[in-house]
Amino acid sequence: MTNNTRKISILGSTGSIGGSTLSVIDENPQYDIYALTALKNVDLLFQQCKKYKPKIAVVGSDEAAVEFTTLLTSSDLNITVLVGEAGLIEAASNSEVDIVMAAIVGAAGLESTLAAVTSGKRLLLANKESLVMTGDLLKQAALQSGAEILPIDSEHNAIFQCLPVALDSLNRRENSFIRKVVLTASGGPFLNTPLEQLASVTPEQACRHPKWSMGRKISVDSATMMNKGLEFIEACYLFDLDCSQVEVLIHPQSIVHSMVHYGDGSVIAQMANPDMRIPIAYGLAWPQRINSGAAALDLTAQEPLQFSAPDLSRFPCLRLGIEAAQERGSAPAVLNAANEVAVEAFLAGEIGFTEIPLIIEAVRSKIPCEATPSLAIIQDLDREARRLSNELISKELFQWASV
Ligand code: NAD
Ligand code: MG
Repeated sequence: MTNNTRKISILGSTGSIGGSTLSVIDENPQYDIYALTALKNVDLLFQQCKKYKPKIAVVGSDEAAVEFTTLLTSSDLNITVLVGEAGLIEAASNSEVDIVMAAIVGAAGLESTLAAVTSGKRLLLANKESLVMTGDLLKQAALQSGAEILPIDSEHNAIFQCLPVALDSLNRRENSFIRKVVLTASGGPFLNTPLEQLASVTPEQACRHPKWSMGRKISVDSATMMNKGLEFIEACYLFDLDCSQVEVLIHPQSIVHSMVHYGDGSVIAQMANPDMRIPIAYGLAWPQRINSGAAALDLTAQEPLQFSAPDLSRFPCLRLGIEAAQERGSAPAVLNAANEVAVEAFLAGEIGFTEIPLIIEAVRSKIPCEATPSLAIIQDLDREARRLSNELISKELFQWASV
């Protein structure tokens, strides 16, 4: 092991981003794994531990810990097993750790993401929900601790790559002459589905993304385009942009990952095959570049690249995301909570696809926006939004099911 070895904790290592991160690390032995974490997939976590020999492993419950410890005792591995939020916070903040990959899905990633930032780590931010919930607080914490927040979401990573090299105090690139940024969106599996069929699409259809292979929650978010709504909010926070400076374009080929328009009329875009190993490698090595293992882009083998404006009547979740970005304060956290509950209910077969935005809009209208909420207020509102969403779903279940 050389002095250049950097220690990394991968929060959510058994997920899609977690697996891609390990695959980049396979190509780059200068990274050493400190911690791996999973909610309940102990078999995969154990396989990963055998290969990467982390110092600690974190699981989501006492039952998972018992199961995992049984597997460990049958091996010669010496790994400390921790449980739940306290374990995730330890993995994110231990002084041995240099880099934290935040790849847990949803608000469950919030506290560990915050812990990585307050303890001054390089944070590779895949868990967009934590930034959406607490954008201003997360940025303030990074300013105080000196943490680097590097976006892993492919669009924001693309924008980061297209920004000038000069850095501000948050290690973000200077954004003074930016006219606007354009977030590209594939449009998901239902871009051209007749509108009247959307009410009856199944979770399996919603999760069959045409370009990316991802976890189920973000796949549904891509199908509703709430994913782009969350990314709109993410872009405003990450790059200090006004909503009027962020635009969304449908680009079904997913080759241009986003672009930056400058005041002189120049537009700089980042292109690559749709492969999350590329933004992950960039985040790990920035400001250098390392091998990601991704295939080279062959533009001659591509279908023509197309761009068009999104249809907000087809994708009401995108409109809801943009509205929450405009309102700021606690609005994005409430949006996020209602969306998480609605997506889970859709995946469980409890509501239809087109009911997702109805629930979110109803919850948003019932919870007034706090302009500068503390973390405690955000967490309260998150709970309240979840409670209301669940109430709406259970009350109206019969009515919806019979339509
Ligand atoms: P996934 O469902 O494949 O994996 C989620 C991981 O988080 C798993 O390791 C799971 O064990 C863990 N986890 C889930 N709930 C947990 C909980 N309550 N406590 C602790 N751990 C928990 O999800 P993914 O597709 O890898 O996405 C992860 C994050 O990255 C999401 O925020 C998503 O929006 C973002 N993201 C993903 C992609 C992608 O290509 N998959 C692209 C951009 C951004
Ligand atoms: Mg994205």
